[in-house]
Amino acid sequence: MLGSGPKMSSLHAILLLFLLLPLGGFRSQQVDYSPVFDGSSAYSYIIQQCEFGPRPPGSENLSECREFMIQTLEAFGWIVTMQNFIFDSIECVNIIANYGFEPNVSVILGAHYDTRPNATEDPENTNTPILGANDGGSGTAALLELSHTIPEDLRPKIELVFFDGEDSGDIDVNNTGTKWPWILGSTYYVDQLSANEIQSTSAMILLDMIGDERLRLPREITSTDSLQNAVWAVADQLGYGNIFLDEFGGAVMDDHKPFLDASIPALDIIQTPFPSSWHTLNDTPERCSADSLNAVGEVVEAFLVSHLGTDTTFAPDTPLLLYIGLLAIPIMIIVLVYDRYSRNRV
Ligand SMILES: [Zn+2]
Repeated sequence: MLGSGPKMSSLHAILLLFLLLPLGGFRSQQVDYSPVFDGSSAYSYIIQQCEFGPRPPGSENLSECREFMIQTLEAFGWIVTMQNFIFDSIECVNIIANYGFEPNVSVILGAHYDTRPNATEDPENTNTPILGANDGGSGTAALLELSHTIPEDLRPKIELVFFDGEDSGDIDVNNTGTKWPWILGSTYYVDQLSANEIQSTSAMILLDMIGDERLRLPREITSTDSLQNAVWAVADQLGYGNIFLDEFGGAVMDDHKPFLDASIPALDIIQTPFPSSWHTLNDTPERCSADSLNAVGEVVEAFLVSHLGTDTTFAPDTPLLLYIGLLAIPIMIIVLVYDRYSRNRV
């Protein structure tokens, strides 16, 4: 994904407070569920992806990794569809997994499974492809583990989507002079959604760079506040408040953006500032940890049980312009009163 933006400003914090006040702060529904997500098993999925080598769009490595992912998902009973699209003469493939023949999807869980073609943050190796253990590998690994730890009766309400073409931004992947945009796969995926599918999706949760051994997950700024609050409340109840930090991190251009643009409540669970291995040859399994994956996996699994058990809805964020409008009213009143008062004095 693209670079993290500046830290949360105090203005943004005040505006957020305005939003939270009428909602009564955190949603603090008690989670009465013990997740079975296994961080070690998820970590093994990182190893298995990395054994294919770097996995940039259109590569043989990515194609082989895709076959491994499809076999894994099908072995756990998921029905897999490949969503193909072509960009810059390169065939890209989103992998979509549904459970049962009559799915009733409410939540989309997403991760990108392609890796960056160049180690653009590695000054000595800028033209070498990265292994992407964390960036690409970790979110994919967590989704593969969730595919068989989410309670079976809830799986028809969930769609797993593995995006291609997320991480080639600003790189001329095919040596044609075309610099690629970011988030190609998720953009294509949302473009294909029908109005009904958009309407019936209560939440989209994206897992990206969740495997670093020193995992820190502040709140991603552009994510939907109400959805983020609900997930962070679950994390707090499970004792992961030391990882899901109650502070604001960066704003990230990532696969949740096309969903937000389509007014689907969306959350990016991502480490910011990015770990030092980001877009370098150091993005290897050794820098990742089963414990980190376990924390995120348990939180997402418990959140799904709690959310899909009640079918809560998440309101999209209030637009900034509305806040400005609301703030303008008292300011105008003060100006008018002051104006009248000063005229009377003259
Ligand atoms: Zn990346």
